[in-house]
Amino acid sequence: MSRKYKHILFLTGAGISAESGLSTFRSENGLWNNHRVEDVATIDAYLRNPDYVHQFYNDMRPELLKAVPNPAHLAITELQNNHPAQIDVVTQNVDTLHEKAGNKNIYHIHGQINQIVCMNCGYVFETWSDINSEDKCEKCGITGMLKPNIVFFGENLLYMNKVDALLKSCDLFVSVGTSGVVYPAAGFVQIAKMFGADTIELNMEKTSNNLLFDRHIYGPAGTTLPALVKELLENK
Ligand SMILES: [Zn+2]
Repeated sequence: MSRKYKHILFLTGAGISAESGLSTFRSENGLWNNHRVEDVATIDAYLRNPDYVHQFYNDMRPELLKAVPNPAHLAITELQNNHPAQIDVVTQNVDTLHEKAGNKNIYHIHGQINQIVCMNCGYVFETWSDINSEDKCEKCGITGMLKPNIVFFGENLLYMNKVDALLKSCDLFVSVGTSGVVYPAAGFVQIAKMFGADTIELNMEKTSNNLLFDRHIYGPAGTTLPALVKELLENK
């Protein structure tokens, strides 16, 4: 840990948002906020009953709008403001807590709750308002093709070319609050390590990816990440 890092890459998951009072969406029993994944997070479900799917995300938006960032999100801002390295944030979270904390260079690979995409023309826009199947795309004018810009199961993750480049160029890869079981994100550490990065895992407990990390720090991210940031700033 005495290297002078030039490019630090964070991968964040549900664990970083837990202390902001958000339930982690993917629970052990495969339920998302008490809904079956196949009912609310697949293209089939959306095509079968778009308004049911819209309602699920409409209901989620107010909770995520009022959520506030915790010390873990704020620590990344402090690092970005005070460390000379390039610092990027790849997140699996659909909340906007990284943005609210003032983080920069954020890539939401699973999409984000306050974005809508038109499946006809690809137009993406931001809103915290409700959407339904009668809404029209303001770009192409087609009705009923708006979808939450959330990556559903079976869809490709967003920004993957960019993320691949970041994984290969970073010299420190820090995973925060991810389960390490969902691919392709679970394989990111392997790529970063193969291309020479030091790897650190911050999590509540051991994960299945354990051996790929050079260092493990266990505990709530709101405590462990500020401590790591302090250490990085002392060695910058
Ligand atoms: Zn459109």
